[in-house]
Amino acid sequence: MPAVDLASLKKKISEFPRKTLIHRPTPLRRLDRLTQELGGPEIWIKRDDLTGLAFGGNKSRKLEFIIADALDKGADAIVTWAGIQSNWCLQTAAAARKYGLRPILLLFNTTPLEPEDDGNLLLDRILDADVRIHEAEKGKIVSQEAVNDALNKVVDEAKERGQTPYAVSIGGSMTGWSMTQPLGAIAYLDAFIETFEQTNEAGAAPTHVVHATGSGSTQAGLAVGAEVLPGDVRVVGISVSESRDLFVPVIRRIIRETAESLRLDIDPAESEITIYDEYVKGGYGNVDKETAEAIRLVFVIEGIVLDPVYTGKAMAALIDLVRKGHFRKDDRILFFHTGGTPALFPYRKPLVDFLS
Ligand SMILES: *Cc1c(COP(=O)(O)O)cnc(C)c1O
Repeated sequence: MPAVDLASLKKKISEFPRKTLIHRPTPLRRLDRLTQELGGPEIWIKRDDLTGLAFGGNKSRKLEFIIADALDKGADAIVTWAGIQSNWCLQTAAAARKYGLRPILLLFNTTPLEPEDDGNLLLDRILDADVRIHEAEKGKIVSQEAVNDALNKVVDEAKERGQTPYAVSIGGSMTGWSMTQPLGAIAYLDAFIETFEQTNEAGAAPTHVVHATGSGSTQAGLAVGAEVLPGDVRVVGISVSESRDLFVPVIRRIIRETAESLRLDIDPAESEITIYDEYVKGGYGNVDKETAEAIRLVFVIEGIVLDPVYTGKAMAALIDLVRKGHFRKDDRILFFHTGGTPALFPYRKPLVDFLS
């Protein structure tokens, strides 16, 4: 295992331009009552829902690097895409506004519902983001061609208006368009280091880090950290959308790009990337009973609010894995709370239905 020296790794990351958006370090806490309730390994939480930008979440860490890159490249607008209730798009809009960039959001409606000005979309509206809603095939992921067509059009229009747009992929994960370095994953490597220092200080090094995976750079960044820093910790991604077969090569590609970008000598095999896809259930954004119950349980006994699309699903998975005896009693699980709480409100109907 090619461990690197922490100081030199931090120095490499600090060479990337960054604009401050978050409060760090985010809190690390032990969840005593959840641990007791499940009767399994110790469970801890890393509160990246408390990053502080627009209700918080993992995207704000990534945007510290992405906004700096956009400003360095002389951009005055930022273009990206995702679903209607996207946390990523809201966080991008808030970060862009804070640094004087115009946010242009392509929101694809893959749900059978009319888009409601609620949750993240309401916040996008309050920020006066340039919101373009595209109807898309229901219940399917939007094809790369559809994304490319819509994005090219918006980028061209922005240029015609005299703007200099910076285009970045969903979740800030994949390189391409204007982003040439894997900045999302670098931000999550940085988050891993922050967590590593906190858990060392607390004498609570985890054996497993569990989190929701959507576009891949959170998992890739954490996996790079787990690979290069001392200790033996497994990063466990819970897919909220795609199959394991689809995700593993994507995450591996982002890991390789990150290693290359930071000159790290690692190349984990596909078999070393852990991702569970059995909790996707009805698909992206489809709330199931277990997710609703996990959200209630953690809110009731720990006072912590999870979201219905990502962290609720990841917590439902964690609970299921503990109950199935997947972990040893002396393991220590660190759950990464990656944010997303504004989406609770537009999901009121399935939540109330499952919980009443
Ligand atoms: C985007 C998102 C994730 C997944 O992160 P990726 O880096 O896209 O895989 C997890 N949780 C929340 C709340 C998110 O918004």
